[in-house]
Amino acid sequence: MSSELFSLKGKTALITGATHGIGMAMAMGLGKAGAKIVINGRSSQEKIDRAVETYQAAGIEAYGYRFDVTDENQVVAAVDKIEQEVGAVDILVNNAGIIKRVPLLDMPVADFEEVIKTDLTGVFTMTRPVARKMVERRAGKIINICSMMSELGRNSVGAYAAAKGGLKMLTRNMATEWAKHNVQVNGIGPGYFATSQTEPIRVDGHPMNDFIVSRTPAGKWGDPDDLQGAAIFLASKASNFVTGQVVYVDGGILATI
Ligand code: NDP
Repeated sequence: MSSELFSLKGKTALITGATHGIGMAMAMGLGKAGAKIVINGRSSQEKIDRAVETYQAAGIEAYGYRFDVTDENQVVAAVDKIEQEVGAVDILVNNAGIIKRVPLLDMPVADFEEVIKTDLTGVFTMTRPVARKMVERRAGKIINICSMMSELGRNSVGAYAAAKGGLKMLTRNMATEWAKHNVQVNGIGPGYFATSQTEPIRVDGHPMNDFIVSRTPAGKWGDPDDLQGAAIFLASKASNFVTGQVVYVDGGILATI
């Protein structure tokens, strides 16, 4: 009974930015729960192909498409192509994101806008064509990758925190508008995870590294695989009456605020 509740057999999940890092860990989790996986990235087809091979080597049916989530024309064309070539998207994980660590007084407006365009507007751009089809079919699960920074102020990540705080509210509003169409929209808010995004600060002796390890009640960086359980729960029928929520997976940091 419990395994059936969390099973994703027969479902297709599109996970953006799943060429590595958190996206790849969540896609692996959804794939192992039975979903067919569709991933994207924007930088190189070779990187996408390599990632698809990694999923397939793990016994997961996987497909890869290259497009930029900030470009509406590319997104709309890609969603049509995926639905024709792979099948209806039942689960969308908006994971693609960037960060720029610059104090607000020094940050060029163009850099601020690039972060908002990717981490907030990009989710809106990516979600609409998928959600239109989910609403028509009266079924769908959308998971937006927010951040612990949806809730906090911290030095040098103002643009990122503004985007992720906005994404929490976008999640609530998508959930509110689409609940009656049986589309659930939730967020996952990771704490600090060991990925390429955090590589520059994950160095022994770096003040941020020491701060993160000492401030996280669990006393360590998160492993991207720690996000799989929340992703499977929010993608499965186990969460059918859960919508508009953000599940924080942060080793206890927000509990201390
Ligand atoms: P990475 O930088 O390791 O990976 C980001 C992924 O997003 C890559 O696959 C990248 O593709 C893709 N991407 C970026 N911009 C675009 C775009 N415009 N269009 C399509 N794909 C794009 O990040 P993480 O794995 O660390 O983070 C994943 C998500 O989790 C992000 O939203 C991040 O903000 C969030 N998060 C991460 C935390 C952490 O501690 N690492 C903490 C809290 C939240 P490509 O390689 O082709 O550019």
